Amino acid sequence: MKETNTQMNTQRTLAKTVTFSGTGLHSGCAIRCDLRPARPDSGIVFILEQPNGSIARIPARFKNIGALTYNTGLRGDGGEILTVEHLLSALHGYQVDNCEIHISDREVPVMDGSASPFIYLLSEAGIIRQNAPRRSLRLTRPVRVDSGDAWIEATPTDDRKLSIEYHIDFPHPSIGAMAATFSEDPHVYAHAIAPARTFGFLREVEYLREKGLIRGASLHNAVVLDDHRIISGELRFPDEFVRHKILDFWGDIVLLGHHLVAHVHAVKAGHRLHAMLVETLLKTPDLLAPVDQKVPHRVLHWQPAVTEASAP
Ligand SMILES: [Zn+2]
Repeated sequence: MKETNTQMNTQRTLAKTVTFSGTGLHSGCAIRCDLRPARPDSGIVFILEQPNGSIARIPARFKNIGALTYNTGLRGDGGEILTVEHLLSALHGYQVDNCEIHISDREVPVMDGSASPFIYLLSEAGIIRQNAPRRSLRLTRPVRVDSGDAWIEATPTDDRKLSIEYHIDFPHPSIGAMAATFSEDPHVYAHAIAPARTFGFLREVEYLREKGLIRGASLHNAVVLDDHRIISGELRFPDEFVRHKILDFWGDIVLLGHHLVAHVHAVKAGHRLHAMLVETLLKTPDLLAPVDQKVPHRVLHWQPAVTEASAP
């Protein structure tokens, strides 16, 4: 997918609606989901059709962030949706700015634990350009968030893209220390990031089940490890674990509500720290400036209060 700068900077949505169903990782229930085209500047919005007939519209924005334990959840308008990050990651990976996600239950189906099934659906739908400039913000100066020995540092870049270098270090013989980098590119995302599956440890399963989580977990929707080895079969990449961390970040950063132009370096991070970065970016007005779509990197007058997208 080779694009000129001008083309790259227009908003994109789906060419048609696609429907899928699958099991919720936490609920274990069957869930139906439609991905539908949406108008320019509407962003990504979950539309939860609740069993009592009421409908909750929940934009994928930081102000609606909910659960952050083992997944990223959103809540608002009287509803809650869990495990949004892999679908958001696929939409971001394919540079889809506007999409309505109609969902029959409060959790995005886990599918195979990766974003590949969503990429397949988006390819089926087709992606079209819209007559509106992409809402890009560039980082103006370095920023760091940390928690214990985990941290994320974002720095300005001359590139017009978001790029990431991710490091993990798990004290497990099958993981250990690994690192990977990714620079925004839909083709590379689809082949090198989307297939990386979520992973979990067998010893955590009972604890999570007691908390009412991961009722739908199986060896078919995650890389599962006992204390010594991987028990769910072959890895898709030798460094699948760190690639999945990039996949998760790519989904969580959507909650900024804009396309981000920056280079990000993350060490031992996770959903909570990803969210902390988004919160810091939104709460520190001089950290972000609009990217002029015609003249690269010209700073325009901008107030954070006017950047909220309205729901479609
Ligand atoms: Zn994940």
